[in-house]
Amino acid sequence: MAIDRSLAVRLMNAAIEQAEKGWSEGGIPIGSVLARADGTIVARGHNQRVQSGDPILHAEMDCIRKAGRRNDWSELTLVSTLSPCPMCTGTALLYKVPRIVIGENRTFMGAEHWFAETGVEVIVLDDPRCVELMHRLQREKPGLWAEDIGESYRHQVAFVCTANSCRSQMAEGWARAIHGERLDVFSAGIRPSTLNPLAVRAMAEVGIDISAHASKTLADLPGKLDIAMTVCSGADQACPTLPGAVRRVHVPFDDPPHLAHGTRTEDEAMPHYRRVRDEIRAWVERELPKLLQ
Ligand SMILES: [Zn+2]
Repeated sequence: MAIDRSLAVRLMNAAIEQAEKGWSEGGIPIGSVLARADGTIVARGHNQRVQSGDPILHAEMDCIRKAGRRNDWSELTLVSTLSPCPMCTGTALLYKVPRIVIGENRTFMGAEHWFAETGVEVIVLDDPRCVELMHRLQREKPGLWAEDIGESYRHQVAFVCTANSCRSQMAEGWARAIHGERLDVFSAGIRPSTLNPLAVRAMAEVGIDISAHASKTLADLPGKLDIAMTVCSGADQACPTLPGAVRRVHVPFDDPPHLAHGTRTEDEAMPHYRRVRDEIRAWVERELPKLLQ
């Protein structure tokens, strides 16, 4: 029995509610419901890859799993805010679900042709609300979106301080050394000056050569950044917004030249540089990955 469009839209409302729930949990905003022909919803689910760490817990899989063992699959309609991927399509085919309602297939085209080939009824609502769910994900968490559709994504990350002389330069060096395979890393200063030779020395001591770095202006940063980190309070206050940055994070570190003020030799000054260098390393190693989704 076919279902009418108003019922399909009502079921989609419930699937969108699930997608929003997933988004509010920090996850991917894709939702799904399973319903009987009379509109009774028997199970709801949403993508939980981020929340559970389970890469195959897509919205449809979550929903089908929650539906449990049953013998009425052939009377159910599977509803999903996004065109189902091959895995979810295969699972729906396995249980001979006869009807699929899809929110949209503009941002991602799954394996809908498999349904058509096996005589499953496919209804695509082309609902702008569902398109916006994915556009928001693409805008705000592009790395997560890329992971979701099986593509790699290089995050664009910049460190900003007042002079782009010391802290932001060390942070750039660490980020490239530790996460260079998945990040493009930049640094810049509000009032660029010159690369601090003791910062270069401190990094050289741990095998990272930043001697070719230069002190750069904000205008030298790429037009679009996923995250811009201000590493001194001067930069945090001087640039409340960074154009083109999706996300702005303030991570203050002590200023080695300031700490070393009054020391008489380079060797006396170096412990300050080493301490901040190691603090930046710890942050880049442990905290930065948490921001990259
Ligand atoms: Zn899927």
